[in-house]
Amino acid sequence: MDPIQSLPGTEDILPTCQWLGSDIKVAPVHTWQRVEEVARELFRRATYREIRTPCFEQTLLFERGIGTATDVVSKEMYSFRDRSDRGCTLRPEGTAGAVRAYVQHSLYAQGGVQRLWYSGPMFRYERPQKGRQRQFHQIGVEVLGSADPRADVEVIALATDLLQGLGLKNLTFYLNSVGDLHDRQRYRDALVAYLTPYQADLDPDSQHRLVHNPLRILDSKDQKTQAIVAAAPSILDYLADQSHWHFDQVQQQLAGLGIEFIVNPRLVRGLDYYSHTAFEIQSTDLGSQATVCGGGRYDGLVEALGGPATPAVGWAIGLERLTLVLEKLNPNQPASPEVYLVSRGEKAEANALYLAQQLRQAGLAIDLDLSGSAFGKQFKRADRSGAPVCLVLGEEEAAQALVQIKWLGSGQQTTLSQADLLQNPAQLRQLAQG
Ligand code: ATP
Ligand code: MG
Repeated sequence: MDPIQSLPGTEDILPTCQWLGSDIKVAPVHTWQRVEEVARELFRRATYREIRTPCFEQTLLFERGIGTATDVVSKEMYSFRDRSDRGCTLRPEGTAGAVRAYVQHSLYAQGGVQRLWYSGPMFRYERPQKGRQRQFHQIGVEVLGSADPRADVEVIALATDLLQGLGLKNLTFYLNSVGDLHDRQRYRDALVAYLTPYQADLDPDSQHRLVHNPLRILDSKDQKTQAIVAAAPSILDYLADQSHWHFDQVQQQLAGLGIEFIVNPRLVRGLDYYSHTAFEIQSTDLGSQATVCGGGRYDGLVEALGGPATPAVGWAIGLERLTLVLEKLNPNQPASPEVYLVSRGEKAEANALYLAQQLRQAGLAIDLDLSGSAFGKQFKRADRSGAPVCLVLGEEEAAQALVQIKWLGSGQQTTLSQADLLQNPAQLRQLAQG
């Protein structure tokens, strides 16, 4: 029978690295776990609390929350009707669900600012390529209830701390302001007026966007379109005083924290609900899918989803791209067992199983050899396991309630009493290091 394959654009994250020729395809799971650990610790220090929302939601949530003119909603959603004929969609991003939960459970009623984080799989029907999948993973933060530019700076600092804390270098941080709705309306008119004479020279996607979502033309990847856009008016010339003030504050405070940035007036985010601050962090170690983190302020979203007017700001980091860079720069080893346990003979094997369980309960990482093969073969596996020491149980040791400890580096060996060992299992850790 032919084995069943995973679907295009989905990947397994394995205990070992997946390679495609000499290129890393999927980083090993311990690299993902390292990211998650560092992120959790940063979130704890900054008092962000985790929120877990469903992987699928009413289609309407994303239509309203992201906007029907966006690529995500118009082309990339996994939508289906369930058996009760409800319109459902696998979440393409995390913000809409977090905000839905915030409104549904009246989290705003607790007053003050809500700092939330999430992580999990997201789904978009895109052309699969390196750093772009149909099921991918994001980790993200949302700060709800503050219009203060310090909130923008706080979330940005959290993203840079996370990426730098993981040891990433060669990052470029692009910053822009897309103003408020009125600023954007005036800018849109100016942009359309500028682009209309070039309409025929734009790529087909951009021609379509000229009518439906002209701001998105700014980040077209088409070379000819890019050349036209290079001389387009800048949104920064259309910001009202309040929007200017906000943008200035963000820049000054970022500088105050020593966070370097490049203002890029062509940076617009793909989702409709952004206002004021928009940003992206790119890595030059990634090739064409270079954006690791995208985020910004979305003051209109909570209200658009039926909640009270609530300013908010957040970001999402793509974990496929992040773990790829990390693995490339700094491949790290999975944790080795602390002890490898070998045994041979019926009594000894039963004894070893008991010892392993006791030592595991005491907190030690024990790799128990289950092969039943000759000691020589078991020792070879012990060497490969990376454990510093091996415990050896033969029939004789089992009969006398003893166990041999063997240092795998030096081959040195000595005998311990099992009773002694179990009374103070932590001595094993000291012995292993000694
Ligand atoms: P891109 O321009 O690369 O399509 P985007 O603007 O659609 O990105 P966002 O919606 O802002 O991306 O998502 C934030 C981050 O999530 C991205 O910067 C990227 O790292 C990651 N990401 C988005 N889509 C995918 C995908 N299909 N596969 C893997 N990672 C993704
Ligand atoms: Mg995209």
